[in-house]
Amino acid sequence: MLYAQVHLTLPAWVHEAVDAGRAYPGDDAKVELAIALSRRNVEAGTGGPFGAAVFGPGDRLLAVGVNRVLPASCSVAHAETMAYMLAQQRLQTPRLNEAGGPVVLATSAQPCCQCFGATVWAGIDRLLIGARAEDVEALTEFDEGPLPADWRGELARRGIEVVADLRRDEAREVLRAYGAGGGARY
Ligand SMILES: [Zn+2]
Repeated sequence: MLYAQVHLTLPAWVHEAVDAGRAYPGDDAKVELAIALSRRNVEAGTGGPFGAAVFGPGDRLLAVGVNRVLPASCSVAHAETMAYMLAQQRLQTPRLNEAGGPVVLATSAQPCCQCFGATVWAGIDRLLIGARAEDVEALTEFDEGPLPADWRGELARRGIEVVADLRRDEAREVLRAYGAGGGARY
């Protein structure tokens, strides 16, 4: 048998946990949502301790994502890639800012090597980050993978502004709780 499709889903709780109708002005509110998603994903047992959200013009929410690697048996189902894929399906374009921006990705933790690559191609203008990679690796068993040494510069050269350490302590707390609970490494 040859599989010819893949079906990825977010947990059902996202519909009650996220207010999709409101605006999320400012960097802080965007990352706050990403971290809240990461926390809820751990509490609900629906994936790893990572959350992300994509915002379009007017600070409007386009999509959210949480880590679904284990539930979906899919190594690419990270919070950032889920959010990108869902936003791209919603807008029906592989380049999110093609029809105008700014488009912003907020993530609870620094993108890994895979999500760095996905960020290069997704068509975003700004990347907002909570916890650092070093936080992820210190507090959990997750591996960030081989990122370019100058990953910020690589994004800047492609017109993507990076803002890091937003609500970092809050993001670290979710990672710490997950790590202390003996979460699997994905
Ligand atoms: Zn990732």
